[in-house]
Amino acid sequence: MSRRVEKGSCFCGTIVAEAEGEPFWINYDHDDDCRKALGSPLTIWIGYHCKQVNFISGIPTSFSKTSGVQRTFCAKCGSSIAYMDDGLKDEIWLTIGFMDHPERYEPMAHGFWPMKLPWIKFGDHLPRAESYTRRRDRAIGYPSGRKND
Ligand SMILES: [Zn+2]
Repeated sequence: MSRRVEKGSCFCGTIVAEAEGEPFWINYDHDDDCRKALGSPLTIWIGYHCKQVNFISGIPTSFSKTSGVQRTFCAKCGSSIAYMDDGLKDEIWLTIGFMDHPERYEPMAHGFWPMKLPWIKFGDHLPRAESYTRRRDRAIGYPSGRKND
């Protein structure tokens, strides 16, 4: 059996990545930082370990507003690509819109449910977390506690 390999690319095609194997987690995110960063009412993040993701064309540009958090995007077309966080070691979270086959990534949970926009309705029975849906490194803390530092 061949190993799963998924491709991701930005809107203009400058940035291309391959993700090998299965993602360890997929979640909806209703957080307002991500809403601003992506320009979308919500997003779906696909969690891979860093060694699973290889950029085969182009180099994403990174931006950090919050200490310990890096967001990457294509400098040419603006597509959001990934989220990396010191509190989530060895993890790279790709945006579902970057993936060439987004239909293959079904979310497993909702993150930051209290920030969900009121007119977005879900009929699923997925877990609805108050904040992150994943365990974080407690020593690093949460980005909200690191703002303005
Ligand atoms: Zn691009």
